[in-house]
Amino acid sequence: MPKGSSRVRVTFLGTGDAFASHGRFQSGYFIQADAYQVLMEAGPTALCAMKRMGVVPADLDLVLISHLHGDHFGGLPFLILEYLWESELHKPLKIAGPPGLEKRTWRLFKTMFPFSSGDLEAVRRKLQFIQLAPSRKVQLGRVSVETLRVPHMKHDLCFALKLKIAGKKIVFSGDTGWTDELVGFTAGTDLFLCECTYYENPLGVHLSYALLQSKRQCFDVKRMILTHVGREVLDNRSRVKIELAADGMKVDV
Ligand SMILES: [Zn+2]
Ligand SMILES: [Zn+2]
Repeated sequence: MPKGSSRVRVTFLGTGDAFASHGRFQSGYFIQADAYQVLMEAGPTALCAMKRMGVVPADLDLVLISHLHGDHFGGLPFLILEYLWESELHKPLKIAGPPGLEKRTWRLFKTMFPFSSGDLEAVRRKLQFIQLAPSRKVQLGRVSVETLRVPHMKHDLCFALKLKIAGKKIVFSGDTGWTDELVGFTAGTDLFLCECTYYENPLGVHLSYALLQSKRQCFDVKRMILTHVGREVLDNRSRVKIELAADGMKVDV
């Protein structure tokens, strides 16, 4: 093991698309390096998946969100509710994502739980929202996070995220259509989690297996795993030749 690196483990909390195709949980990845714990993406099923897979919500150090679609950040109100009633936060929790994340999260929380009692202000004080900007690199605790704006929906800024943690590099594509920039952004990474919503028809705002298979040789990555998989991909899974994520899967990077 190279100097300065240690084991980084990724637990796949949710590998389905927005429709929870084939009963898969929506987006969520738990990344652990030594005692440092990151939740990347918080789909509506994230809290359920965390508890099912033994992740302790109050132990998180950082939450990363790629974009403000419900299947990627809609689980944050449940996490806040958890901190309000079930698992008191004993340390600050950073929540980083695109502009508007803080406002949208609290608006969603207030919509879902308008008359919530308890010391919400105490929870609010522990949460540190951080706004990410495109093509920037920021140090968040023990993780260096680099962003790439990817082509998804015109009005919703979406980031691919490159994490450097404990000497390892992990890239998550976010939700995206094809862009050549993904090739450079992922070059030399240990693990590339790439969205693959469709099997054949990418519709421009997501990627398809057919397209990724044709581009696979372009990616200089140690391991590539397809995630955010939709019904069409799962219906054709026996024909998929690139590694496919599954809920509950654990990968040591
Ligand atoms: Zn999505
Ligand atoms: Zn999306």
